[in-house]
This record gives sequence, C-alpha cells and structure tokens, in this order.
Amino acid sequence: MNCKEFRHQLLTDPYGDDAPFLEHVHLCPECTHAAKQALGFEQKLRAALTAELASTACREPGRLDSTRSPSALRRAIGARG
Ligand SMILES: [Zn+2]
Repeated sequence: MNCKEFRHQLLTDPYGDDAPFLEHVHLCPECTHAAKQALGFEQKLRAALTAELASTACREPGRLDSTRSPSALRRAIGARG
C-alpha cells in the first residue's frame, strides 16, 4: 500500500483493520501523523454526536426509538446545524 492508497482508505474507513493499512501506518511517519489527526477528528465528532443524541433523548424521550429511519435521524442532526 502506498501513501495515496493509505490516505484514501483513511478518509473512507478510518477504522479499517486490514494488514496493508495497518502495516503502512507503522512504516510511514507522514501517514501516522495523518492517521492521528483523522482519529482525533473522529473522536471529537463521535463525542459531539453522542452529546447531542443524549441531549435530544432527555428533552424528547420518545423521539429516538428504533423504528425511526436513519434519514430521519440525519435530518434531525442537520436541522441543528
Ligand atoms: Zn504513507
């Protein structure tokens, strides 16, 4: 795997666990740096979404039931900017 392939997979599947992906990050300092930045961003995004969903669930307890479609959830998140 070269750097371009690594960066592409990092953008599309930052939690990838295939051998060439993991091997490259151990061999290439530039891509290690890029991976740390990407995972840091993913963690911040996850924390923000988790906080927002918890806040919505507290205000509107029935709103996040499992019968709602993902597109409805996406619209709900998008509506909050
Ligand atoms: Zn690289």
